[in-house]
Parts: sequence; C-alpha cells; structure tokens
Amino acid sequence: MRSGDKGSDYLLGIDIGGTKLAVGVVTRDGRVVAQERIPTQANQGPDMVIARVQELCRTVVRKAGITWEQVLACGVGCGGPLDIKRGRVMNPPNLPGWLDVPLVQTLEEAFGRPVYLDNDANAAALGEHRFGAGRGVRNMVYLTISTGIGGGLIFGGRLYSGENGNAGEIGHMSLNVNGRPCNCGGRGCLEAYASGTSIAARAREAVEAGESSLLTDLAGSPDAISGETVKEALLRGDALARRIWDETMEILGAGLANVINIFNPQRIVLGGGITNYGDLLFVPVRRIALARAMRPLASAVEIVPAELGNDVGILGAAAVVLERLEARTEVETHV
Ligand SMILES: [Zn+2]
Repeated sequence: MRSGDKGSDYLLGIDIGGTKLAVGVVTRDGRVVAQERIPTQANQGPDMVIARVQELCRTVVRKAGITWEQVLACGVGCGGPLDIKRGRVMNPPNLPGWLDVPLVQTLEEAFGRPVYLDNDANAAALGEHRFGAGRGVRNMVYLTISTGIGGGLIFGGRLYSGENGNAGEIGHMSLNVNGRPCNCGGRGCLEAYASGTSIAARAREAVEAGESSLLTDLAGSPDAISGETVKEALLRGDALARRIWDETMEILGAGLANVINIFNPQRIVLGGGITNYGDLLFVPVRRIALARAMRPLASAVEIVPAELGNDVGILGAAAVVLERLEARTEVETHV
C-alpha cells in the first residue's frame, strides 16, 4: 500500500504527558483503531521515557494489525516549551531533565516515518476542531483547565501559533496586576486562580486562615484539599466552597470575556478535568462571560464543553499531522 493512498493511511497519535503516555492508531476521519496508555514515570528522564514511547508505538501498530508503511506520519503532543521548527523539547516543567531533546529526529530515525510535534494544548485544540466540539467552526478558542490552564487558537480554520509557536497562553492572561503569584513568574494570571491546583490552594488558604468548612473533614487535613474536595463540599452546601467557587467563576468568566473581546470567536471550547463540573461551571461562566463581553461579540459566541474526553491527547496528536500536511499543501498551492 502506498503512503499517498489517502483512503487507507493511518496516523499515529502520541501524547507525552507528565503523568501518562498515550499512543493510538487513528484513521483520517478520527476513528481510534487501537490505543495504549502507560504511566510516564517522568522521573526516569528523557532517554528511558522515549524508549518506552517507542515500545508503546510498536505495540499499538501491532495491535492495530497494520504495517509501518501504512502509517502516513506520527503526530506528537507534548508539554511545552518546545522548539517546533527544530523538533525539540525545551525543558517543560512536567518532564524533568528534558533539556533541548531532539524528539522529532529520534522518533523519525526509530520509525522511518515523518514526525510532527506541537504542544499539548495546540494539539488538543486541533483535535477538538477537527474531530470534536469545534467541527465546522472557522474561529475557535480552546482552553484546557486542569492542573494548569492551556489554550489553542484556531483562526480561519487554521491553528494560529504566533511568531515562534507559543501563541495561545490564555492561562497567563493577567486579570489582576497585583494578584496571586503564578508559576510563569507573573502575577494575577487566570491560571493562578482558576486551575484545579489554584482552586484547591485558595480553599486551603481560607481554611488555614480559620474559616470553618466541611473541606478539612472531607479531605482529612488542609494539605489534602483538592479540586475534587471543593466540588464535593460545594455539592453538600458548604459556604466556604461556594464562595471559592463563585469567585472562580467570576474570574474565569472575566477571562473568557477578554478572550471574546480580543478574538471574536464563534466558539469557545472548554476541556480538561475542571469541565467535569458540568452545569456547575458552564451555567455561571456563560452568564458572566457573555454579560461582561461587548454585546456584538457576545452575540456571536457559544461556550461549549470539549467532546473528545480521554481520547483528546491521541486525536489531537493525529490532528497535528493533518494540520501540517494541509498547511504545507496550501503554501505549495499558492507558490
Ligand atoms: Zn502565569
């Protein structure tokens, strides 16, 4: 089978996260044919982790019952910062020891297939745009809200990656110039309030300051309070959890209003663990964001949950391949 035979080509989607590795064989229309997930064991360092990624890829290709010749290309989503042009991973906080690692070259040599790399948030944005909640939408902003907050921007149907591949850091939009310190070194960023980690930290600080709450009993100790504990306490009517949550919704809603005012998107897709809150999140966030945004822009946008769930890493990585191939074709067509 020729690799240019569009009907029969497969994509290999590789998701390298700080806690798990996921690999899947994916069809061009987004069907996952076979997949595997294993813990990253990031503390083992890049050489061991990359060796395990390669092993996992071989296992999944075998499990899918295809040959490497049937793999059109491999897409990789990985935590940034990355040097996309050189295919290198540049010391991401969730992958200790990955200092200028030539990931693309290493995987291309191992598999003999082209490899395309992008950061995990851009990959997820591409996946949701092509296969999930953003299908058919030309202007879309994607946010993933989990331990941190990442973003990806799709304008005119194409990923916008900025001058050196790092656009879309919506989590580091500063909403309070003198606010909470953020992991990025800045202050008052959206991520410093509304990530799962920050919600838990704000709840913990309130408990430690002496406010009474169910949170300590639910978690066992203040140190053990997590985003999930806040959700549990919220559902049980705890006043402190309610206040923390309402503040979080105000801040997230304000952040999304900024996004709406700047980008005028048709759709904002919210993914990541925090969206498991469902209506507890979407009802107030829609109300607040749309009330704060300028009216003509607010009237054009929908705020919707992501659709790809646990497959977003694999499908996003596969979508990176299709995006690069199509963008290249467009450039060639215009020359
Ligand atoms: Zn920040």
